[in-house]
Amino acid sequence: MVSKTKKPSIPITEIEQSAFCQTDEDLASKTLQEEFEIGVQWQKLPISYMRTSPEQLSNNIQKAKKTLGQKLVILGHHYQRNEVIQFADFRGDSFKLSQFAAEQKEAEFIVFCGVHFMAETADILSTPQQKVILPNMTAGCSMSDMAQKDDVLDCWEDINDVISSKSSLIPMTYMNSAAAIKSLCGENNGIVCTSSNADAAFDWAFERGDKILFLPDQHLGRNTAYKKGIKLNEMIVWNPFKPLGGHTEEVLEKAKIILWQGHCSVHTRFTVDQIRQARETHKDINVIVHPECTFDVVNEADLCGSTEFIKKAIVDSPAGTKWAVGTEISMVNRLAEENPDKTIFCLDSVVCPCSTMYRIHPAYLSWVLDGLLEGVVVNQIQVDQKTREFSRIALERMLSVV
Ligand code: SF4
Repeated sequence: MVSKTKKPSIPITEIEQSAFCQTDEDLASKTLQEEFEIGVQWQKLPISYMRTSPEQLSNNIQKAKKTLGQKLVILGHHYQRNEVIQFADFRGDSFKLSQFAAEQKEAEFIVFCGVHFMAETADILSTPQQKVILPNMTAGCSMSDMAQKDDVLDCWEDINDVISSKSSLIPMTYMNSAAAIKSLCGENNGIVCTSSNADAAFDWAFERGDKILFLPDQHLGRNTAYKKGIKLNEMIVWNPFKPLGGHTEEVLEKAKIILWQGHCSVHTRFTVDQIRQARETHKDINVIVHPECTFDVVNEADLCGSTEFIKKAIVDSPAGTKWAVGTEISMVNRLAEENPDKTIFCLDSVVCPCSTMYRIHPAYLSWVLDGLLEGVVVNQIQVDQKTREFSRIALERMLSVV
């Protein structure tokens, strides 16, 4: 047995989250210098970018994009700020953006306005000649940070030491994880999944084994497994800070699903009380949530699905419908702006953007594009060869089970 008691640590991204929570819904970008005053720990960049107004940055980005033309493609996740997403050539959730990244064979530079694990995925799926750039290197993901490579390796070895040879354990990681975790899955007959194809990925895994180690989001894992008919008492949570994840050998032997103790700090803010409140206030409301929300919230909601599923359900719904949405606020606000014939609001009245997505301020985008104009590639994301090789295997399995 290799795992031992360790001191839990809270990712800095989770601590920073509360700094952006507010009640007045004003998420308009300020100068980067003003945003730094909250005390965030973001990547430093030349002072001139810190002081440039968002309007001026917008002009600069537009000009740089025009000059770079076909050499450049900008990918933007739905959770990005308006001042950034307006420049995206393709918008999507992490699954859709990984498909776009794999299809972009012409562009020399792929600028990824999202978070670190997404840019790593784009690097793995792009050609060796293409360069993937993340505008702010500190744009990570608190959920991804909760599954560190050494802890996952300890867990993997411990479980395999304990379970009988008849059981075969399939590692499955959610897209929201570091390349090192995807690589571990690829190397050990496992797969990557997204919130769009988690159902199909579970079928894929159970055709090959009889237990799943699901990383790093316990909620997506539990919600998906339950939907597939697996009982709650057949699932356990692996606590990386305790020996054997906090379980006995017998419990590990019996469990069908072993869920890593990780969560999304944005989606676990939604509660059953908020849903009940929305139903009391609005007659005929549709409650739609993301599967990173807790089990109770997902069960209480009318609909649950990936970011793209939520977008499609609302966009395709008839005029006059009402939607209370349990996902990231930048996306909810944008859906409300783009669908003025419907009532759309966030379940949580306190406005909390994903603090790591929020780290892509337009000043960073302007900075990396100016670098490209001068022939300098800043913030290139490069996954090492071995990690790349095995991650690609796990990602290709993901892309094949839609
Ligand atoms: S919304 Fe949650 S899972 Fe997505 S990038 Fe932000 S912290 Fe990570």
